[in-house]
Parts: sequence; C-alpha cells; structure tokens
Amino acid sequence: MAGGARLLEGGPIADEIRTAVAEDVASFTASNGRPPGLAVVIVGRDAPSTVYLERILRGCAKVGIHAEFVELEGEATEASVVATIRDLNADPTVDGVIVQMPLPRTIRLRSVVDAIDPAKDIDGIHPLNAGLLRLGYDGFLPATAHAAVEILRRSGIEIEGRRAVVVGRSAVVGMPAAFLLVRENATVTVCHSRTRDLQHHLKDAEIVVVAAGQPGLITGSMLRRGAVVVDVGINVVDGKVVGDVDFESASKVASAITPVPGGVGPLTNAMLISHLVRAAEAQQAQARPLSEPVVGGS
Ligand code: NAP
Repeated sequence: MAGGARLLEGGPIADEIRTAVAEDVASFTASNGRPPGLAVVIVGRDAPSTVYLERILRGCAKVGIHAEFVELEGEATEASVVATIRDLNADPTVDGVIVQMPLPRTIRLRSVVDAIDPAKDIDGIHPLNAGLLRLGYDGFLPATAHAAVEILRRSGIEIEGRRAVVVGRSAVVGMPAAFLLVRENATVTVCHSRTRDLQHHLKDAEIVVVAAGQPGLITGSMLRRGAVVVDVGINVVDGKVVGDVDFESASKVASAITPVPGGVGPLTNAMLISHLVRAAEAQQAQARPLSEPVVGGS
C-alpha cells in the first residue's frame, strides 16, 4: 500500500511473464537449433536510451534469447539505416528488429519505420501493426502501451464498462493504450496538450493512464477518489526518475497506482521479449514446408 492506494508493481508480473517466455525460448531453441534472435539498431550512441536498450539485452540474455546491437555512426545516412534494416529483415536468424529512438534529425522516422518487416516489428511501430490494432486484429502492439494495460489486467483491475482517461496521444504510447482500453470495453477519453480543462475529464475517470512526459502533471486533487492510476511517464528531475503523476498526493486519493520507477517500465521489457518469441514462432511456422508435419499442431 502507498498512502492508502494499492501499489501496482510491474516487477513481479514481469517475472511471471519472463518465466513463461523462458520455457517457450527453450522449446523454440530445441526445435530450431538456434535461439530466437533480436537485433537492436542504434544510430549514434546517446546515454539515456542506451541504458534502456542495454536493459533489454540483459533481459533477453536471462531467458536465452540471442540479442545484439547493430551500431551505426551518428552521421549515418537515412539510406544506410534503411539498408541495414532490410538486411536484418532478410536474415533468417533475426526474428525481431527494434530501432533506438529518437533518431538523429537528419533521418525521417517514417522511412525507418516503413522499412521494418511487419513480421519482425516487435514494438508495433509499423503502420501495418498500428492498423491491425485500430481494426481490432492481432498484430504486434507497442510494448509500453501493452504493458500499461497488461498491468491492469494482471492485477485484476476491472476495465470493462469503466470510464478511462488516457493523457497523451502519441503513436507509441497514448493512442495504442487508448485502443487497447477500448478493446477491453472501457469507455475512453483521450486528452492531450490542447485539451481544455484536463481536470474536467479526470474528475469522472475510474482509470487514468498518463503518458505525457510532464513530471507532476497529474496531482491528487485532479483525480476522482478511488481512481486507478497507471503512470507511464519516465522523467529525470534533479537526478531522480519520476513519473507524470505526483505520487505523494495521487496515492492518497487513488485506490491503486503504479510507482515510477518499478511500475510500467519493468513490464515493458518483459512484453517486448514475449513479442519477440511470438514473432520467432510465427516466422518459423511460415517458413516450414507445407509437407512437414506441424508438431503439436491441429
Ligand atoms: P510524446 O511523444 O512526447 O507524447 C506526449 C503526449 O502527451 C502528447 O500527445 C502530448 O500532447 C501530451 N501532453 C504533453 N503535455 C501535456 C499536457 N500538459 N497536458 C495534456 N497532455 C499533454 O511522449 P511518449 O513517447 O508518448 O512518452 C510519454 C511518456 O512516457 C514519457 O515520459 C516517456 O519517457 C514515457 N515512456 C515510458 C516508457 C516505459 O517503458 N514506461 C516507454 C516509452 C515512453 P500533443 O499530442 O498535443 O503534443
């Protein structure tokens, strides 16, 4: 408990997911003679996101996934980044590709995103996967948005029929989280920087997901008593990692709240590796000759 609110910690849920993933990795490796493979494309090293990506590499190693950085110089051209991604698309030992964000200003995000094979797009950034989510079909989900909703589901928080507000409408977090909540039958309002009177929308919200990148944006006095709060924000203030929600005041009003750090973050990593194993299994199934019997298949 924190200030009266139940603490929704991502770590134990991430451990559960990793344990299941490790079993799937072992059986994939036994059947295919190689572990699932992840390539992380890095264009110029920048400290904060490299730390995040190194954590992904360690998470992969723990469950037996082969993951490596594919590093390009900071001055790399858009054409060379796209060519690198195409090579990875064609490499049968690479099942998933993620690209370090943000990219240098000289490289158009859209060109890079479009270059990723949707079957290897384990962080759901390709327009095809975004469209599948929008239409309610299975595709790869952006790992952070998936983690934000999964932490609610796995903590036994009821979503169906509840009023949810998502603060933030980015393509990688806010919008996919909103679509996922709709898929879970919540009634969803999406707020953003041009929303007039954010508090007006929040005062009735039973579930609040915040992904704005603004430390302390949401305080306890803006929330409905008993709201469930998922704080996706990761900000560094005075050398400390904090979310977008003022934890101190919000935890006195909320019935449940995710901490930062220790909430959505650890789960994001686990979701990503679970997506990778799914990608590996799907691509192997696709590559298998039709005459070969599918073990365990129906
Ligand atoms: P982003 O692309 O900058 O989007 C921020 C969104 O918040 C935008 O839609 C923006 O509105 C909205 N916003 C900004 N200020 C606002 C305000 N005062 N009131 C209402 N809405 C406001 O950021 P992002 O990539 O979605 O990331 C959001 C946060 O999540 C960041 O703190 C980031 O570090 C964190 N994050 C965490 C993880 C994780 O694993 N936990 C992963 C990725 C990102 P407009 O659209 O109008 O500009």
